This record gives sequence, structure tokens and C-alpha cells, in this order.
Amino acid sequence: MGSCKFHTLAALSFTLVVLLLGGVVAQGQTPEFRALAFYSTNVEPDHVRTGNEGLAFFRELAAKENFAFDTTTDWDKLNDTDLKSYQVILWINDFPHTATQRAAFENYMEHGGGWLGLHVAAYNDASTNWPWFVNFLGGAVFYTNNWPVQRAKMVIDDPNHPVTKGMPASYLAPSNEWYQWKPSPRLDKDVRVLVTLDPSNYPIGVKDVITQGDMPIVWTNTKYRMLYMNMGHGEGVFADPTQNQLFANAILWLGKEKPTRASQGGER
Ligand code: ZN
Repeated sequence: MGSCKFHTLAALSFTLVVLLLGGVVAQGQTPEFRALAFYSTNVEPDHVRTGNEGLAFFRELAAKENFAFDTTTDWDKLNDTDLKSYQVILWINDFPHTATQRAAFENYMEHGGGWLGLHVAAYNDASTNWPWFVNFLGGAVFYTNNWPVQRAKMVIDDPNHPVTKGMPASYLAPSNEWYQWKPSPRLDKDVRVLVTLDPSNYPIGVKDVITQGDMPIVWTNTKYRMLYMNMGHGEGVFADPTQNQLFANAILWLGKEKPTRASQGGER
């Protein structure tokens, strides 16, 4: 009798192990898409903090939504061979620093690759000297920011885009260092602005104050499979369920969206 019970238990455990392993393997074999997140640990401490929170958020989302989420601090993985395996790449808290990395990124995006850039990922000024990237952003050049970080009311410009699906008409975003761009990317006819900092927030900042002007926060240049989100400075950026919906929508849209215009431009 004792031995019979043991066998039943053993059989049950075996079945359980097989089921668990089977589940893991099946899930691992068929991710819906593959994402690679580039990040840096030697940047502004506040950007490192957001980076860690962001990686944890996307890792958890990947398990839930069945996509592969790889991460690297090696920006030299911005090369044709490594990028080939991924439908979308993320720049969590930094941007490429060499001409070779930049060229590989251009080639990837011109051929239908997906990009999600957060906060400082899009930073550029007169010294950056990367005209292709400025054009890619819809002409946006960094102009100024508020300081210190502050919460701000966001307005959803375009509720009909997959990235804003399920979002309220407006929400109070976790604190951030908000960037203003000149010219505003909204002036580019190919840009679709999805979220804007509501002017009711002005003046915003204490040491550095922004009192006026257009402040697109989330936008896409429709010539590419890309999305820029200005969130990404300090703690708590990924602690708000409403804003997290935006992040989730963003990566799922970029990962699942079929390559469009850019990828149909032919081989080079
Ligand atoms: Zn910042």
C-alpha cells in the first residue's frame, strides 16, 4: 500500500515536470517577436535607475506576452549580423557613440527594423553631428528641459493609434525631466504625435523653468517603424499602471507591426 502511494506520487510528479518543461519549451520556441534592449551602466545615475526599472518591466511583459527580450550593454551589437535576429530594438538610457554603430542602425531602420527610444536616447544637439538621426526624429533638436524632475499632465493627442489604445484622454505622469525640442517634431508632415505635455503644466521646473511652447512627448515618424517616448529620468517612471500601458502598447505594436514603407524600399 505504501509503495503504491509512492508510485502514484512519483507518476504525478513526473507528469508535472513534463508538463512544466513542455510549457517552457513550447513558449521558448515560438516567441511572437524578438526584442533587443541596449542600455548603459556608466551614464547619469538617474538614467541608470530608470534603465534598471525599464529592463525589469519589459522582461516581465515579455514573459506575459510571449516575446523574446534580450539585453546588452555592448553597443557594438549595433551591427548588421546581430540586428538581423530582432524585429525591434530599444535604446533604454543611451545612444550609439561610433560611426559604425550609427551606420548599422540606419541600415536596420531603412530596411524595416523597429525602434523604441526612451528619454536621452533621442538627445541631440549641435555637437552630435548626425543629420540622419535628426531627420529620423522628425527634425527634433533638443532645446531645453525642466529641472528638477516633476510630474506632469499628459494629453493623448491621437486615441486611434495602437500605442494609445486603452489610454484615458489625459493622465498624470510620474515625475520626469521633460524635454522640449526646437523645431517641434509636430511640424514634420510625416510625424504623428501621440502624447503631449499639457500647457496647463506651465511654468514647469524650479531651477530650469519652461513657460511655454509645444512639447510632444510620444511620437512616431511614419516613414519608419519607430516610436520615441520622452519618459526615462529617475525612479518611478515604470511605477504607474496607466503609463505602463503606453510602454506595453509601444513595444507590442513595434514588435508585431508588419514592416511597411521603409522595408519595401528594396535591397541595397
Ligand atoms: Zn534625464
